[in-house]
Amino acid sequence: METIWDCAIIGGGPAGLSAALVLGRARRNVVLFDSGRPRNAVTRETHGFLTRDGIPPYEFRRISHEELARYPSVRIRNTAVADARNAGGHFQLRAMDGLIYRSRKILLATGLVEELPAVPGIRDFYGVSLFNCPYCDGWERKDEPLVIISETEHAFDLVKSVYPWSRNLILATNGHYVLSHEQRRKLAARGIPVYEQRIRALVGTGGRLEKVVFENGAEERRAGGFVSPVWSHPNVFDRALGCRRNEHGGIAADDFGRTSAHGVFAAGDAANIVPPQLIVAAAGGCRAAIGINSELTSEDF
Ligand SMILES: Cc1cc2nc3c(=O)[nH]c(=O)nc-3n(C[C@H](O)[C@H](O)[C@H](O)COP(=O)(O)OP(=O)(O)OC[C@H]3O[C@@H](n4cnc5c(N)ncnc54)[C@H](O)[C@@H]3O)c2cc1C
Repeated sequence: METIWDCAIIGGGPAGLSAALVLGRARRNVVLFDSGRPRNAVTRETHGFLTRDGIPPYEFRRISHEELARYPSVRIRNTAVADARNAGGHFQLRAMDGLIYRSRKILLATGLVEELPAVPGIRDFYGVSLFNCPYCDGWERKDEPLVIISETEHAFDLVKSVYPWSRNLILATNGHYVLSHEQRRKLAARGIPVYEQRIRALVGTGGRLEKVVFENGAEERRAGGFVSPVWSHPNVFDRALGCRRNEHGGIAADDFGRTSAHGVFAAGDAANIVPPQLIVAAAGGCRAAIGINSELTSEDF
């Protein structure tokens, strides 16, 4: 007979992997799908996860898979889910491997995709010397000459949040006018130059930024910096399943990951856009797993 999994987890980042561990230990049969495109894939090291500070992202995943292999009721499928829907009494998922899976619960742990400012070649530097979060990568850049590249209304806040790590900052808005009079005054008072013209080029080798060249020919020597990405969801499963979004654009979920759609849970960056951190995503996965297991237990007991 076809298996009905207790839970299908979509996404194998820290949120999904952590949920799989808790559910496996709770003796639940779980299938985890992963398309293998985590948001931090561009980085060489991740920071701030206690006992794993500085670990390469692929090594974090390798250890997680090794630990999950101890629990035989957890299966990992290295494939994307193309479609997930409520089939009345259970969920039906169609995977890119061509197979159909059925489950009692679904956990959406699909992370986010990010669009970077429209600066030529910016992807070559992202994850090596340009980052998005000072809590993740500020320590390694402390006191360096940095550029903040932001085309959005978050420009001023990003400068402010990077300032404790380095006061040697310039702000580049790449042709956008996103600062209020008061924000300009505060930046000027701290000696932080603002460049509003477009960036012509980022110059450096092997992803290590050396200078920023502006359209008017001005140049600034910079060793790295921080950018404001625009985040969006990689899939629309949540909408198809009837989940509401929260005020940050994430999937609205309570403390145990329950969404507005019965049986559908969400964790990690997909649910909790602020603060987007590995340890927070993993904690979210753990909480959602406990929510899922409690719901399954109540239904069966
Ligand atoms: C440049 C950069 C540096 C960072 N550095 C740090 C750091 O140093 N410390 C830190 O704490 N955080 C860091 N982060 C943030 C951290 O990467 C995220 O907060 C964390 O990865 C979120 O985990 P998650 O499990 O929610 O999502 P992710 O890790 O993004 O995992 C989501 C997974 O879901 C999969 N997926 C999506 N859709 C489907 C589908 N339809 N079917 C199957 N699989 C699917 C994706 O392929 C992916 O593997 C960094 C982020 C970036 C971009």
